[in-house]
This record gives sequence, C-alpha cells and structure tokens, in this order.
Amino acid sequence: PLTERTPLIAGNWKMNLDHLQAIALVQKLAWGLADVRHDFSAAEVAVFPPFTDLRSVQTLLAADKLSLTLGAQDVSPHESGAYTGDISAAMLAKLDVTYALVGHSERRHGHGESDETVGRKARAAQAAGMVPMICVGETAEDLEQHGAAAIPVAQLTAALAHLPEGAEFVVAYEPVWAIGSGQAATPEQAQEVARALREHLRDLVGDERAARTRILYGGSVASQNIAGFMRQPDVDGALVGGASLKVDEFTRIIQFQK
Ligand code: PGA
Repeated sequence: PLTERTPLIAGNWKMNLDHLQAIALVQKLAWGLADVRHDFSAAEVAVFPPFTDLRSVQTLLAADKLSLTLGAQDVSPHESGAYTGDISAAMLAKLDVTYALVGHSERRHGHGESDETVGRKARAAQAAGMVPMICVGETAEDLEQHGAAAIPVAQLTAALAHLPEGAEFVVAYEPVWAIGSGQAATPEQAQEVARALREHLRDLVGDERAARTRILYGGSVASQNIAGFMRQPDVDGALVGGASLKVDEFTRIIQFQK
C-alpha cells in the first residue's frame, strides 16, 4: 500500500568524532546490527558524520558491504566556484552520500540560515541526486506564540517551493526546545505536528507523495522513548543526535519495538 514507509533511524553526529573515531564507531555499529538485525523490522539506518569523515566511512561501508546509509550534515547551495569553505552537492554525491541535512536548527539559528537558503540547499542536493532531509521545528517562544505546527509547516512550505515536482525528500521535525535538552516532545506532540505536516504535504506535493514521504521526529531521542514515537502513525523514524554517538544506545534505538 501507498502508506507503507520504511522506518528510518538517522544518527546526526554533529561536530563529533574524527575520521579514525568514525571508522571505529561504524565498525562497532555494523557488528552490533549484524547480530540483531534479523530480529527486527527492516529499518533503514543512516549516519551523518562530519564532512572530514565521509570518505573514510564511505570506503568502510563499500569494502565491507555494510548496510548503513550515508548522509551529510549540510551542503552548499552553490554548484561550484568561489565559495571558500563550502562543500558542493556533487562532491557529496561522489562519495555515495544519499541524504543531505538542510535547515538543521543549529544552521538556521547558529549560522543565520534563512528559509530561502535552506530551500536552495535542498534543491542543490536534489539536483545532484541526493535526497534532502529537510529539518523544521519551532522554538520554545514560537510554541508559546503560534502553537507547535505553524512554524514547521511554514518552514517546510518555503523549502518545498525550491524542489521540482516529484522530487523525493525526507522531513525531520525537531522542536528546537527538545534538541540536546533531554526534554523530548511527547509522542502525542510529535504525532500532532507530523500529522499537520503530512496534511500540508498533500496540498503541496499531492496525496501520493505525501503518503510516501517519511517524517522523522528528532530532539532528545533515546532508547527509553523511541518506541513511543515509532508507534505514532505519522512518525516514520528518528533523527538522533547525542545518543547516536554511543554505539550500544544507538543500537538499542534501532531495535525499537513497534
Ligand atoms: P539530540 O539532537 O538527539 O541530541 O537532541 C537531535 C538533532 O539535533 O538532530
């Protein structure tokens, strides 16, 4: 059926782990998963290392045929040229990077990225053959003033204006107040916003694409709370920060029980 979406558990390492530490973590993770995987749903597992780790992780995944997907934490909105410090979508795609995070709150708020920039980054990733993972979420202040869904819906609408019809993307709903705070949203809060996002997706990209698009929850996800999120009908996975740096904890998260 149209509504069958492969769960996706994504580990956003942020600015942690050099390339040697990355290799060690991915190796341990792959071994752990090989042991448990047959018992569990066919969740897709993705890791988002820093740029400097990508080549090492890619080589390891390819050499050992490990079934982990690779993502990048950011991407330049520009194709190539005089953009010192930027990393292009083509460079990432060349490293077998499947997903590119765009609009993480640490980019929006820490680096002043506008909806326009986020949309252009999503477009650059998509044009290079990657799948943009569009992050949206309200601050505590937004929540008080506008409720939970208004800002995420507006951010998603703005980003999608840059993608061509039919483009594949993933949405990560991450309330800013829940990120790194240890104070996750409740499963019901996550579901309410995920449902509102999917409802709007139907208008923006049509029923079929809306039904096929994965919407993840992120913000203080841990092994103790993952099951509650995964039980929600419109939550298709998680974007995990801090807990993705600990192999045992991340493995337990991947083993969520529906
Ligand atoms: P956290 O981060 O799991 O450490 O809260 C999530 C994120 O920022 O993607």
